[in-house]
Amino acid sequence: MRILVTNDDGYHAPGLEVLEEIAARFSDDVWVCAPSEEQSGAGHSLTLNRPVRLQKFAERRFAVTGTPTDSVMMALREVMDAPPDLILSGVNRGANLGDDITYSGTVSAAIEGALAGIRSVALSQVYSRDRDDGGDMFAAARQWGARALGPLLDTPFADRTLVNVNFPPRAADAVKGIRVVRQGFHDYSRGSVVEGRDPRGFRYFWFGLHAIEHTLDHGTDLEAIDEGYIAVTPLQLDLTHHSSLGPMAERYEV
Ligand code: MN
Repeated sequence: MRILVTNDDGYHAPGLEVLEEIAARFSDDVWVCAPSEEQSGAGHSLTLNRPVRLQKFAERRFAVTGTPTDSVMMALREVMDAPPDLILSGVNRGANLGDDITYSGTVSAAIEGALAGIRSVALSQVYSRDRDDGGDMFAAARQWGARALGPLLDTPFADRTLVNVNFPPRAADAVKGIRVVRQGFHDYSRGSVVEGRDPRGFRYFWFGLHAIEHTLDHGTDLEAIDEGYIAVTPLQLDLTHHSSLGPMAERYEV
């Protein structure tokens, strides 16, 4: 099995190394092609208004001066002589839960894989500022990664679907297990924009992505993480709200 590993935290991010270790449990044909700089929040963006450069660091290790989507495209079109059987994106430093998904470069790299018809999984380690004890923040992902991934490798994925995995912010032995759950939603607070002054006295604004409050609906990724479980969520690229099709079409009928 040939595996492509990518991320949105950048080629030098510690989570990429964690994911390479997980991938190595399944294959010795692991390729890395990741953005040269951090691209968190890049979503599914593609670099169109400037060139991207490809940097080769070793036989199967590359960085791209662009977005996560650019990296997957470059890997599939330029870097790899044959397509991978599996694309893994992460392990992201921080949650990709609920409404995070459309902002996420991590999930978007997996979306790009799904568009190419390749089995793709995004992996994120939820980070808790309260638990910033200097320990290994990727402990749960490191210990549970292969167990979370294993069953996905021989599960059929429907066309244009991918899987989003989040690890709870807990020590590995405090993780309670794995739940397959739907995407929840955040109550985003406008308070996540911080205003300040730069060293020259000019005003700036800085976005924080994390929601202040969650709606912990039953059976969601947010609830699973809150209760100490790994959240596994199948996602689809079809964003159509099917039950609105009929009623909306009626509004256009004369
Ligand atoms: Mn990130």
